[in-house]
Amino acid sequence: MTNKDLADLIFPNITKTIEDYEKMYPKRDLPDDAVVTRFAPSPTGFVHMGSLLAAFIEKKVAFDTNGVFYLRIEDTDQERKVENGIEGITTDLKNFGITIDEGAISETEEKGSYGPYIQSKRKEIYHTFIKYFIEKGMAYPCFCSKEELDDIRSAQERRKDRIGYYGRYAKCRKIPLNDAYQRIKNGEEYIIRLKSPGDFEKKIVVKDLVKGNISFPENDMDIVIMKKDGLPTYHFAHLVDDYLMRTTHIIRGDEWVSSLPVHVQLFSMLGVKPLKYAHISPIMKEDNGVKRKLSKRKDPEAAMSYYHEKGIPTEAVKLYLMTLANTNFEQWWDANKDKTIDDFKFSFSKISKSGGLFDVEKLMNISKNYLSRIKATEFYDMLVEYAKEYDKEFYELIVKYKDFTIGLLNIEREQKKPRKDYASFSEVKELVWYMYDELFEKHEKAYEFKEINDKEEILRLMNAYIEKYYDEADDQQTWFEKIKCLSEEFGYAREVKEYKENPDNYKGHVGDVSMVIRVALTTKSMTPNLYDIIKLLKKDRIIKRIKELEKNF
Ligand code: GLU
Repeated sequence: MTNKDLADLIFPNITKTIEDYEKMYPKRDLPDDAVVTRFAPSPTGFVHMGSLLAAFIEKKVAFDTNGVFYLRIEDTDQERKVENGIEGITTDLKNFGITIDEGAISETEEKGSYGPYIQSKRKEIYHTFIKYFIEKGMAYPCFCSKEELDDIRSAQERRKDRIGYYGRYAKCRKIPLNDAYQRIKNGEEYIIRLKSPGDFEKKIVVKDLVKGNISFPENDMDIVIMKKDGLPTYHFAHLVDDYLMRTTHIIRGDEWVSSLPVHVQLFSMLGVKPLKYAHISPIMKEDNGVKRKLSKRKDPEAAMSYYHEKGIPTEAVKLYLMTLANTNFEQWWDANKDKTIDDFKFSFSKISKSGGLFDVEKLMNISKNYLSRIKATEFYDMLVEYAKEYDKEFYELIVKYKDFTIGLLNIEREQKKPRKDYASFSEVKELVWYMYDELFEKHEKAYEFKEINDKEEILRLMNAYIEKYYDEADDQQTWFEKIKCLSEEFGYAREVKEYKENPDNYKGHVGDVSMVIRVALTTKSMTPNLYDIIKLLKKDRIIKRIKELEKNF
């Protein structure tokens, strides 16, 4: 009786060998320094901020090095599966512009030639590897019942020993081959365990690209590698997948650091080079002065849907993730205002070791900066998409008045210090409603008149303005010159300075008069550049506004 006989008994239908798979999935034809990364979530139906950050970094590193970024669905734990769990993940990634080079693209489709990329479809591949491990005496069947495992545990607790299946506690390790063979033949239930060659007294050092060198005792646990349902455990599946998919860098959350001794051992038992590891600290949040992990349950901003509903552009979220990913990014972006994330070179050494602090306010600020730097047409297209989903009324207006809306969004844009009004698309309507007659008519109007607030005087000024001084063709200088003339006609100083020198000679000054025009047209005392607003509204709308004012003020 040999290990091979046992392996053949367990896997009678496995005829391929590891070499066959190595040929099917050859070393990738990529430049030497190209990085191959993967995002490997369970199909839970959504991506939260922490895993989005990991996916973002994985994508970025692959992109920077002309490597490959792929999506692998880790569904060997069938209990964690949810309906349409893959689609939720691919949608979230797509919404954030994290495009994959290979991997699952829906519940049923995938792309790339290193698949299948869904673990439950890789059973035969795993079995080939497990068979090999058994043949080589590196794995064995374990028949322990739940009660037996509980007994082992109690004994360990009593003796204050480490908990687990190892050393003298690893009962089934000692079962003679013949017996194991017979018991399987007799139909007894079993799982497969690794026969760990590790010695807990010895130390290993693993280099982590974020955390530096980490020292651990060797793994001596005979961990389960195949469960009763015939599926491998996560540890074993990831070994097979990362090897055959030719991953070079495993980037993931640092909850996996403690598994490193097992993972490093598995790679070494297979006789292949260990991969590079980068373990990322979780995103933190300050809650009443206490730092804690950003939580799916407690923090709405941990869910991707939050950004979608608020209309925070995905690029802004990515810029923010980049600031969390690399501590030197923000400074770089400030100095390179016309550049994008793609132009920035990511580096592992600049990942924050302690975990970035999630700060929505900062994200909104970044979003404001971003939205102020893009072209009005680009802004418009995204706004249309947002409104289409969340605000039908506004959507119809901005589509009907397309050029008008782009003109509006273009006010004080494309200049050295562009105006920063908007942090999200959901805020736009509330900031610009007064520009659209349809909204103006029904909006509650609280005119914010300042120095000049006598209704008759205001109406006189406005009527004079539209009848005598308004001309659509005026450039900004001519327009302002005319406002000065209007001021003079009504007894207001042409210049603020003149007024300050002789306040008794005037009713006020040109600034007060422009304020009247601003508020009469918009109800607001603070708006973007008035000349641009007038230019967009044009005569008919202005006359309508004067009528509204008569009625409502
Ligand atoms: N499937 C694992 C998870 O859900 C992935 C761990 C890894 O990236 O190796 O977190």
